[in-house]
Amino acid sequence: MSPFNPNHRDTPAGQITIALYRIAQAIEHVFRERGKVMRLSPTQIQSLLFLKYARPGVRTIGGLANRLGVTYATSSGVANALEDKQLIKRTPLPEDQRVVTLELTPNGERDIEALNNVLDEIELAVAALPEVEQTVFLRATQAIVRRLQRAGYVSVYEMCWGCQFFQKNAHPNDPRGPHHCTFVNAPLAEPNTYLECPDFVPAET
Ligand code: SF4
Repeated sequence: MSPFNPNHRDTPAGQITIALYRIAQAIEHVFRERGKVMRLSPTQIQSLLFLKYARPGVRTIGGLANRLGVTYATSSGVANALEDKQLIKRTPLPEDQRVVTLELTPNGERDIEALNNVLDEIELAVAALPEVEQTVFLRATQAIVRRLQRAGYVSVYEMCWGCQFFQKNAHPNDPRGPHHCTFVNAPLAEPNTYLECPDFVPAET
């Protein structure tokens, strides 16, 4: 029973699966079209967005490989291409000089400004739904993502607030940051708590 076969698309689950497939195609389409205008591949767009919004410790070749779901060699190739375009540069991590991080250049930041609205059409389509439908849709899509995450099909990157490893104001006078992450056992500066982290685990409610 394949939902690709219109003859078998007779259950809500099959119809929703195809709808999600079409939404994924629409997202691919907007990334490709924006990439043509900006002379970037969809992978390069995803990489720039990752480097803008991921927490500092994971902005590395390995972190990028995890985010893109590719090998280290492929991730290194993507970083080289972005470096050639002068959109990123390699910089040692201040707290551990052995770790080389990838950082946006001013040109990269300028491209991010132009990329921030790349999903606007999708968001507008969702926002056009009645509020009560958005609430149901949110709950349903979160449940689907959680299941796909458990199965290893997708990584969820979220910010610290709401993470079970986050300790708010654990050491308010620490110049390195008032909050604490028990996962990496390190202080967190306020701005870094609003960045995406691959180690996020939702706090029990
Ligand atoms: S593990 Fe949780 S608290 Fe620690 S940096 Fe990641 S999101 Fe923040």
